[in-house]
Amino acid sequence: QTFSELGLHADILKAVAATGYTSPTPIQAQAIPVVMQGRDVMGAAQTGTGKTAAFTLPILHRLMSVANSSASPARHPVRALVLTPTRELADQVADNVSTYGASTPLRSAVVFGGVDINPQRDALRRGCEVLIATPGRLLDHVEQKNVNLGQVGILVLDEADRMLDMGFLPDLDRIVRLLPAQRQTLLFSATFSNEIRKLGRSWLKDPIEIEV
Ligand code: AMP
Repeated sequence: QTFSELGLHADILKAVAATGYTSPTPIQAQAIPVVMQGRDVMGAAQTGTGKTAAFTLPILHRLMSVANSSASPARHPVRALVLTPTRELADQVADNVSTYGASTPLRSAVVFGGVDINPQRDALRRGCEVLIATPGRLLDHVEQKNVNLGQVGILVLDEADRMLDMGFLPDLDRIVRLLPAQRQTLLFSATFSNEIRKLGRSWLKDPIEIEV
């Protein structure tokens, strides 16, 4: 199977071709079509399986239908929110989004704790369709009214098991309440513990389960 057979937008295929990937990994082959259809997904996948592209590529594809090349921040509301447990993972996801979205007009930003908040605030105020964030710092930005999450149509919980281990459940809960109820939600976790399944039941709708 090839990436073009998956029906991804031409601008995204161009970026994938530039990376030199020849074929989708198993999680990509399974997840990309269902995410493109707008379905919720519970994915059990470790780092190294290609899981970042498995959600990033179809999300960028979906956002292309609402893309806007205007410079006005109001025209670049956050449409997709990716939550990660750590700064390192947030950075990795943001790098992937920049790479795969390089030929698109979509903008992205990344926010995490432990660094100066002001440059992040400025980036948020310029507007971005894709926001990658760690939960605590995202809530700081929400409180400062640097970002509005009222138009988020896609939520990704990446390494959800680690976010729970790190005590982020109350923050995640607060964030999810700020999002539209009608949205697509993707949850990735190394394993599906009872706690993770409980999150899946509360926050996902009729999810497709993918294990690799
Ligand atoms: P991840 O599991 O998302 O952390 O990705 C692991 C590594 O696999 C990263 O270095 C990616 O650049 C690479 N990768 C992702 N998708 C593919 C693919 N389809 N073919 C080859 N390498 C890939």
